[in-house]
Amino acid sequence: MSTQFTIPKTQKAAIVEANDQPLKVIDTHPVKQPEELAPGECLVELECSGVCHTDLHAAKGDWPLPAKLPLIGGHEGVGRIVAIGQHTQDSPVKLGDRVGIKWLAYSCLDCEPCRNGLEQSCYNNKLSGFTVDGTFSQYVVSWVSHVTPIPENIDSAEAASILCAGVTVYRAIKYSHTKIGDWIVLPGAGGGLGHLAVQYAVAMGLRVVAVDTGAEKKELVMKLGAEKWVDFKETKDLVGDIRAATGGLGGHAAVVTAATGAAYAQAVDYLRHGGTLMVVGLPARASLSADIFFTVVKSISILGSYVGNRQDAREALDIASRGKVKCHYVLKPLSALTETYEGLEKGAVVGRVVLNMKE
Ligand SMILES: [Zn+2]
Ligand SMILES: [Zn+2]
Repeated sequence: MSTQFTIPKTQKAAIVEANDQPLKVIDTHPVKQPEELAPGECLVELECSGVCHTDLHAAKGDWPLPAKLPLIGGHEGVGRIVAIGQHTQDSPVKLGDRVGIKWLAYSCLDCEPCRNGLEQSCYNNKLSGFTVDGTFSQYVVSWVSHVTPIPENIDSAEAASILCAGVTVYRAIKYSHTKIGDWIVLPGAGGGLGHLAVQYAVAMGLRVVAVDTGAEKKELVMKLGAEKWVDFKETKDLVGDIRAATGGLGGHAAVVTAATGAAYAQAVDYLRHGGTLMVVGLPARASLSADIFFTVVKSISILGSYVGNRQDAREALDIASRGKVKCHYVLKPLSALTETYEGLEKGAVVGRVVLNMKE
C-alpha cells in the first residue's frame, strides 16, 4: 500500500541496552519503512506516550520474566497510522487514523484464552515495550487488528494513560460483580491507577470507600466523587471503619490497586457476604493470603484481573472521552524519561507523566 506520509529513515528513541546501564536517548534509531512492514503490521507516528511503573521494571529487568534487549519501552502511546503493510486484508483501521498502542500489542485471537475473550492472557502474545519495541520513540510498529481507535473528543495526552492504567481499573470494576448503588472499596485510591478507579466506579453508579493515606490524597479522591475515606495509617481498626462506612456489612467488592502485599491483607474481612476481591496491584514477589474459613462461609470470590482486551480498551476510552474520567498528568519531553524513572522509584510521581514525542 502506498502512503501519502513522508517517513524519515531515522528517529529519536529511548533505548535500554543493558539492565544495569542508564537508558540512552538517540536520534539515529532506524524507522521501519512501509515496504518492510509485514501484512497486518502498521507504522504509527507517535504524538505522546504515558510512562507506567511496568516500564521501569522492564528497564531494570527485575521481573521473573525479563524483557527483550536492547529495548524501547512504553505501552501507552497515541499517534497516527502513517503506513500499513502491503497485502493486509480487511484492516479495521486506515491511514491517518488516530490510534492507541497498549500493553497487549498483539494476540493470536485463536488460542483458548483468546477465543474466550481473554486476549491479554494469550499464549502467543506480544507485549509493547517488553517483548517487542514500544512507544518511547517517534515511530512504532504495531498490528492493525490490535491498535485502539481513539475517540475524537479526547486529547491524545489524556487518552494515553487510559490505554494502560484506565483499562486495567475499568476492567477490574466491570468484572467485580457489582451493580448500581453497591459499595466498592478501593485500597490505593489516591495513586495512578486508584484515582482513575474512583472515577470509573462513580461513572458506573457505585459508591466508593477510598482507602489510602495523607491529606493530599484524601482531598483528591473526595473531589473525584468518593463518599467515604479511610486513612490506613491513621485508623486503629481498618475492618471496623470500612464496615461502618458501608452501613455495617462491608463492601460488595474491593479492587486493590495498591502495589503492596499489605493492601490485600484484610480484604476478605471487610467484604460482606457474597463479596468479590479483585486482585490488580502487582507487588513484586508477594503472596495472597486469606482466611480460608471466612472465604468459604462468606462465599467470597477472589479474582485476578490483568489489563484488558480490545473491547475493554474501547469502553474505557469511550467513558473518558465523555468527560467522566480524567487522568491527572504532566507533559514532558522524551529526554525526561530517566528522571521520570527516578521519580517512580521513589514514589514521588503524582498522577502520570506523559512524554511528548513532538518535542
Ligand atoms: Zn502499564
Ligand atoms: Zn491467543
